[in-house]
Amino acid sequence: MTIKFMSGALVLILAVLLAGCGAGEPTAGSDAGAAAPAKVYRWKMVMAWPKNFPGLGTGAERFAEHVATMSAGRLKIHIYGAGELVPPMEVFDAVSQGTAEMGHSAAYYWKGKVPASVFFTSVPFGMTTAETNAWLHYGGGLELWREAYAPFNIIPFAGGNTGVQMAGWFSKEINSLADLKGLKMRIPGLGGEVFQRVGGQPINIPGSELYISMETGVIDAVEWVGPYNDLAFGFQNLGKGQRTLRYYYPGWQEPTGTLELLVNKKAFESLPADLQAIVEVAARAANQDMMDEYIAYSARAYRDLLERYGVDIRPLPMDVLESLRQESAKVLEDIAASDELAGRIHASQQAFAAHTVPYQRITEEAYIEVRRALEKPLE
Ligand code: CA
Repeated sequence: MTIKFMSGALVLILAVLLAGCGAGEPTAGSDAGAAAPAKVYRWKMVMAWPKNFPGLGTGAERFAEHVATMSAGRLKIHIYGAGELVPPMEVFDAVSQGTAEMGHSAAYYWKGKVPASVFFTSVPFGMTTAETNAWLHYGGGLELWREAYAPFNIIPFAGGNTGVQMAGWFSKEINSLADLKGLKMRIPGLGGEVFQRVGGQPINIPGSELYISMETGVIDAVEWVGPYNDLAFGFQNLGKGQRTLRYYYPGWQEPTGTLELLVNKKAFESLPADLQAIVEVAARAANQDMMDEYIAYSARAYRDLLERYGVDIRPLPMDVLESLRQESAKVLEDIAASDELAGRIHASQQAFAAHTVPYQRITEEAYIEVRRALEKPLE
């Protein structure tokens, strides 16, 4: 037994040694550089959210794992959650300056630096996730995004998507547009602009302070993402006190939620072509993968909110949505008129939607209408 075991162990050791020798030798068909030990690139990625945060953080982690595996360890990306290396609102600057080679964030956070950036995250009453991805990758969207960030030495990639969001949690019943007047709500980006125009008070509060702000009544309403993230935040527990919270849909303000993977231009250009391709393909995969994760886990969280926590989940009245839609169109036109690049992005999105939506009507939309009409009522 002992001899047999030892010989087995020796075989294993020999195998490891042989494998070790082989790794350093050029093999047939390899290029001239294969004989030298592969250069290992060590990058930092800073995020605008905590590490392992549902969807947003887990997606970035998987991106880094895929890059490490596909590059056989030649490109290692260490991920820093919000505040670990830089505060969440300094992710863009950190990547621009090269403090970190990569960032994971949302474009609309940078509207103070790049007014046109708001168009890349989501447009109220705009394109869906599938349409947005088609525009980005086959409709000139990504080129415009890269043009917007070029002055900052940043190359953006679409880096995840939340899908259509929820309209948010409201401490007050919304029956007409008048109910939004004076309402203090955390709602950033273009949605916040629209909300202000209909008489609301948009307040931008970091994610970490949202729960306490709702609990103490600093704000009356909050939109964050959707069931997957909102359940993790615990908003469902807020409705148990003196205020009854209602969870409204649909997320007119964010019919899609594109996230971004930012890469410092110099760092990207320093990579050999195969590692550049790995970053690009891993980003593309991360973009789709996060959407898949959101659809699967938001559905589960929605059930929990409904059945376990008894949350009152209901649609916004159609006439309220219609007013918000009209105001959205005006906000978009105003931003497009005030910034040359924003104008071109808006025009590009409008043109793309004009030829995509009619086709969606006879495919995705037609199928969903049929499914809804023919399915048995839910029991
Ligand atoms: Ca949101």
